[in-house]
Amino acid sequence: MSQPGLLLVMTGPSGVGKSTLVAGVRERIPEVEFSVSCTTRPPRTGEVDGVDYFFVDAGEFARRRDEDAFLEHATVHGNSYGTLRSYAVDRVAAGAVVLLDIDVQGADQVRDSGVDAAFLFVLPPSFDVLEARLRGRATDAKDVIDRRLVTARHEVEQAGWFDVRITNDDLARATDEFVAFIEAERAARAPLRRAPRS
Ligand code: 5GP
Repeated sequence: MSQPGLLLVMTGPSGVGKSTLVAGVRERIPEVEFSVSCTTRPPRTGEVDGVDYFFVDAGEFARRRDEDAFLEHATVHGNSYGTLRSYAVDRVAAGAVVLLDIDVQGADQVRDSGVDAAFLFVLPPSFDVLEARLRGRATDAKDVIDRRLVTARHEVEQAGWFDVRITNDDLARATDEFVAFIEAERAARAPLRRAPRS
């Protein structure tokens, strides 16, 4: 019997290593799909429209918001981001495991929406480690990094209500925990199989 779909909401501070973690998870569970969000942020070098995000202007974003195309939407670091219902709801109904990488405000809205979802928070081993990782990237200006660290502290304060918290200190162990969480959440949603009569 095919596995049921699952909406998986992942949140965690910038620099915590979510992309690496998800790459490992997708090797083990290939049917995990990324939801492609809309954003008003300009594309970074190498980002592709329709793959990384749908890059839209403020007018287009407002139009989609007004027609209720978003399951959730939020302003993060001055730009608008929104999850399209067409990914988050329709793909799950088709049996996909759809992963949302969204901020804590968005996760809170999904929780309030009443849509069935599983919530996972990725924690850094410590704020010192997170700061070292962000500064080590060397791609961002100092004030951008400082702002991300302030945001990270606010986000981590919300981690308590998520279904599971995974600390990304050891990648192999964190990947195992992530995979185990997906499997448990899918099993919990699988229809009960009737035992054959003897
Ligand atoms: P970035 O601009 O670096 O790709 O993402 C910045 C932040 O926006 C990250 O914390 C990411 O999780 C969050 N984000 C990306 N897409 C969405 C979305 O559709 N909704 C919300 N609420 N946050 C998002």
